[in-house]
Amino acid sequence: MRTDRSILFSFAHPDDESFLVAGVACKYGGQGVRLSLATATLGQAGKTGNPPVCTQRELPGVREAELRTAIALVGIAQLHLLGYRDQELAAAPPEEIRRQLVQLIRLHRPQVVVTFDPNGTNLHADHIAISRFTNDAVVAAADPRWLPEAGKPHQIDRLLWTPPTSFWEALRSRRLSEQPGIDFVIDIRLWSELKAKALRAHRSQHLAIDRIFFNSADKELLLSAEMFRQAWGPPLSQRPLDDLFTGIETSQAVGLD
Ligand SMILES: [Zn+2]
Repeated sequence: MRTDRSILFSFAHPDDESFLVAGVACKYGGQGVRLSLATATLGQAGKTGNPPVCTQRELPGVREAELRTAIALVGIAQLHLLGYRDQELAAAPPEEIRRQLVQLIRLHRPQVVVTFDPNGTNLHADHIAISRFTNDAVVAAADPRWLPEAGKPHQIDRLLWTPPTSFWEALRSRRLSEQPGIDFVIDIRLWSELKAKALRAHRSQHLAIDRIFFNSADKELLLSAEMFRQAWGPPLSQRPLDDLFTGIETSQAVGLD
C-alpha cells in the first residue's frame, strides 16, 4: 500500500502525542499515511512518578525511551527530537527552531500539520511556544524567500490546532457539534486499546495520565475520540467533520480500492 498523504505532528513533550493524537495516528497510519512527529523537549523537568520510576537525572533518557515505545505502538515512523529544555521552550531562539521546523515540513511535505492551539490547551508555556513556532514555520516553509537552503518550499493544505478546551472536557459536554473550535471529531474507538497502551508507555508520567484517563469513571468515553480545530485550510462544509483529509486533493493511494 502506498500513498502520498502525510501528517506532521508538532508538540512540546513526550506524552503530548499520546494524549492528543494516538488514535488519529493509528487510524491514518493504517491507511498508509506517512506520519512524523516533532517533539521539542524531553520533558526533563517533569515528575518521575510515585513511586519514582527513575531519578530526575535519568528522566530525559527514560522519557525518550517511553516516547519511542509509545509512537511505535501507534505507528508514527519518524521522530524528530528538537532538543530544547523542558519549561524553557518559549526562550528557544526563533531563527533556530524555525529552521528546524521548516526543514521538517519541506522534508516530509505533509498536507496536514497538527499542533497545540495558541493557548496551549492548558496555558502551559511550552505548549503555547510550540504552537507559536509551528504556526510560524508552516508559513515560512511555503515561502521561497525563507531559508532557501532548508529545502524546496512546501505549502501545507490544513493546519490543525488542538481544541480551545481540553478534549476530555469537550467530550463530557456531549454537545460537540455546538462547540466553537471543535471542527474535526475523529472516532478512534477501534484503536482505543492502542491509545491506552501508548499512554501507559509513558510510565514516568503515570500520575497525570491516571488522573486524567485511567482513574476516570468515563475512561471509555475519553478514549473514544480525538478532536481538532482548523486554524486554516479549505472551507469546511460542515462542523465537525470526521476525516482530517476532507477537502484536500491528494493523488489517490495506490493499491487501495
Ligand atoms: Zn505537554
